[in-house]
Amino acid sequence: YDAIVIGAGLGGLLSAAQLLQRGKSVALLERLDHCGGRFTAKTFKGVQVSTGAVHMVPFGSSGVLARTLRRLHIPHRLLDADVFGSFHVHGRQVRARGLLGVYRFLGPRQFFWFLRLGYLMFFRPLPASESDLPFSAWLARHINVEQNRELVAFFERIARFALSLELHQVSTAEVIATTKNMFRYGAPGIVEGGCGALVAELERRLRERGAAVLLSHEVLQILHADGRVTGVRARNKATGDELLLSAPLVVSDIGPRATTALVENRQVRQAELLKQQREAAQAIAAASEAPPAYREAVGLKVHVLSDVSLIPHRGIMYCLDTQRIAGIVQPTNCDPRLAPPGKHLLITHQVLQSENIEEEKALAIADLRRLFGETFERHCRILTMSVYRGEWPVNRLAQGRDLSPVTPLQGLFLVGDAVKPSGYLMVEGVAQSVNYVLDLLDA
Ligand code: FAD
Repeated sequence: YDAIVIGAGLGGLLSAAQLLQRGKSVALLERLDHCGGRFTAKTFKGVQVSTGAVHMVPFGSSGVLARTLRRLHIPHRLLDADVFGSFHVHGRQVRARGLLGVYRFLGPRQFFWFLRLGYLMFFRPLPASESDLPFSAWLARHINVEQNRELVAFFERIARFALSLELHQVSTAEVIATTKNMFRYGAPGIVEGGCGALVAELERRLRERGAAVLLSHEVLQILHADGRVTGVRARNKATGDELLLSAPLVVSDIGPRATTALVENRQVRQAELLKQQREAAQAIAAASEAPPAYREAVGLKVHVLSDVSLIPHRGIMYCLDTQRIAGIVQPTNCDPRLAPPGKHLLITHQVLQSENIEEEKALAIADLRRLFGETFERHCRILTMSVYRGEWPVNRLAQGRDLSPVTPLQGLFLVGDAVKPSGYLMVEGVAQSVNYVLDLLDA
């Protein structure tokens, strides 16, 4: 092969498609029995239950992913939402199509400070001294956080929903770069048919164009000689057979930690990794040190099926008056086929704030009761509650802490959610990481 791609997540699929478009022969190896990684879905009780993403693309039909798909002629449709959607605050949902909606729940005094922050973020060059400041510290420098609680909660819940981070875990420069891109590209969009439909189209295109798509094939080692990558050693999980594939180019979509391990002929296992992380966290707590801000972004997501519509728009309902849930989408407002006829699918997202998973789940349920009261008890059913951490996190590295896609081995490159360029979040960053690597190869 001209190129081997490790991992058929969105980063791997887009890499393979772009390499094929450039006339390369490509083998794509995926250890699971399906493509898509954290950006696909499985049908469960007639619902498109996603493996990660909430069926939403951050910059919608004008974003980087949409442009890449158009360039690759991959059939798809993104149904754009409003920039904000609504806010649940003081026990009720406030619709917020634009700035006026924000005014409605912030009131005149906090709205003044909101505009002032907007000016500082968009129109004033960011002083070098503020660039690396945690965004929470930047806010405290420019507003009185005690007197502007809803305004702080506004930023906090958006960061939790979009980045799975607390405000002290993300730099001011990164928040500003990401916010500017949100306005530059436009509102988020829901994928018609859900993320599974988009992944199916990408996989179909790869097979049509002659790529070897090897599912249930786990890469065990990245082979190299004299500082250059030469291929991979993999195992067919169905038969147990091992195979060697050679190529002068290997693109890895499995993240820096797992890629480095494969170069050293070892594998990262989820159970071992979680144990190591737990021990490291305990050691840090015992030494009363602050936890490092650059670890992966972790989260908890709930799929709820409802008989009645609970969110009256296509966007995100940010929850300012909850303990854990940061935001909720109702993607069936865009595509009713994501759930059985007459039913509504809601997906919640929150940052995982402790190791006590049962408590985190209980707090999510308490929030759903608080948000929807009787209606939740009478009309809603929880389908799944999933935790994202370790080797299956929300982001492999905290936004803004991404690494370079270039590795010390010639011919080995990284794509995916740990090598996103600054300002590009979630799958927009994944798509942009692929574009960046392709530009390097073309140069
Ligand atoms: P992955 O999807 O993780 O792909 C890596 C693939 O490599 C996997 O399929 C894995 O099985 C495979 N693999 C690993 N090791 C090996 C090996 N040794 N050999 C072969 N294969 C291997 N993004 C959005 O844009 N919108 C959202 O609404 C959104 N919401 C999210 C909500 C949650 C709860 C989570 C977890 C993520 C969300 N994201 C969202 C982020 C988005 O899902 C990810 O950024 C994106 O899917 C990452 O793609 P990737 O290709 O980098 O990695």
